[in-house]
Amino acid sequence: MFGIGTSSLMASRGSAFNQAVQNSRNLTLVLEHDMRRSIDQYDLSLRAAAEGVADKRVMSLPTNMRSLVLFDRAATGRYLGSITVRAADGRLLADSVGRSDARDDRGDAHQALAGYQMTPGGLYIGHPVRFSLGDGPLAIALGRAITGPDGTVLGSVVGSLSLEYFDTLINRLSIGEKGAVIVIETDGTLIARLPYSSANIGRSLAHAPIFQHFMGGQEGYFVASAKLDGVRRLYVYRRLPGLPLIVAVAPAMNTVYAEWWTRVGWFAALIFVFTAIQMTGVWLFVYELRRRQRAEAFLERMAHRDSLTGLENRGTFDAVLKREWTRTRRHRNPLSLLFIDIDRFKTYNDHYGHQAGDIALKAVATRISECIDEPWDHVARYGGEEFVVVLPDTDTAGAILVAERIRRSVLDLHVEHAQTAAGFLTVSVGASSTTDATVTDAAGLLKAADAALYEAKGLGRNRVAVAQELDAELIS
Ligand code: GH3
Ligand code: MG
Ligand code: MG
Repeated sequence: MFGIGTSSLMASRGSAFNQAVQNSRNLTLVLEHDMRRSIDQYDLSLRAAAEGVADKRVMSLPTNMRSLVLFDRAATGRYLGSITVRAADGRLLADSVGRSDARDDRGDAHQALAGYQMTPGGLYIGHPVRFSLGDGPLAIALGRAITGPDGTVLGSVVGSLSLEYFDTLINRLSIGEKGAVIVIETDGTLIARLPYSSANIGRSLAHAPIFQHFMGGQEGYFVASAKLDGVRRLYVYRRLPGLPLIVAVAPAMNTVYAEWWTRVGWFAALIFVFTAIQMTGVWLFVYELRRRQRAEAFLERMAHRDSLTGLENRGTFDAVLKREWTRTRRHRNPLSLLFIDIDRFKTYNDHYGHQAGDIALKAVATRISECIDEPWDHVARYGGEEFVVVLPDTDTAGAILVAERIRRSVLDLHVEHAQTAAGFLTVSVGASSTTDATVTDAAGLLKAADAALYEAKGLGRNRVAVAQELDAELIS
């Protein structure tokens, strides 16, 4: 889930970036369209003036009439300045607002234009300056060279475009918090900037790394941090065809990915919730599984074991005896069985109480377990206060040893039992073995041990009797 989510988020991150590039590119096209239209319109007036000046008939008209012919009304837009025409030697030939030579402040632009290496018909765009003798608004000079029929430069016509025009234009754009818009000349001179930065207007940014990127092609985009404010932005730039101007729209990277980050937030929250639900589910599942396993293990135990003593029960004993009998037949190894019965237990119960009887039963069971070699040997509660022990690979002698160890061990418990000869709780043990030729099957083995036990009881209890030679070999 995390992998799928992450890869889809990465894909949407890419598309958020592409979308921002597309939007910014559209804005550069809008800016280009507006600037082109305004500059072209003004340029028409400059051309008209240039053509008029080259016409002798126009120049022979009286000054006021000449101005009417040279300067049409198109040049009187809000951000457009007056137009002056000068000869190649610097002489003022005409002025759209009728200024005298002395009051014309476009001398610099004319001069620059005179040395301007331009393709014929090209438009000159100057650096931002204050016209009207230095106290007007910042403006850029727009000029054209006047060429004669043979291509010689006869003079120049110069007008101005207020930088307010650019400011108003870019101020209308909405590019999000910390976004920037830049209008810059191809030589690096800053014309306009959003947010407005008065100290930098007119300055050359030719050596700024961002400007170097702008020179990379006709249009393009890149991501960089501005030296001016340190904000990381996506710069989408476009060079205006035929004009020495570049426009750049630069939304802050924060806004480019703002929506995407919101999506990341939602995704993280969902992952967290899903994981929490999943973990809870898994935990509940594991908990339930364990509970079941425990219950099953308990039932399994209960099915095979005796609840009071914890020993194997009668059913398990039957299966074990059957299995061991088969094994004995196959390998021809001896197999022995012990039948153990607590002596005078009925009177123990009567005298000490049933509860004490239970405790004594458990103690005897534990003692028997300790005396045998589990898991090879098996002990089971046969019923009541009777126990059976299966001893694989054990002959009569071995069986007697184990039986005697058990009898001794129970006696050593020193559980008081006033009604026995020893004064303590004792057991009688009957032992049988497959080495006895009369034993032909498992039931016979059990029967023989039972008979031996009966014999042990008859001989006074607290003793071991062996089935084989019941009459002769009685131990203790
Ligand atoms: P003997 O020496 O001949 O074996 O005498 P006994 O009294 O032990 O013989 P009997 O088999 O008649 O008595 C067995 C008694 O064991 C009967 C019963 O009170 C007791 N007993 C059987 N199972 C339990 C048990 O689970 N708890 C307790 N407390 N007593 C039990
Ligand atoms: Mg009994
Ligand atoms: Mg008994």
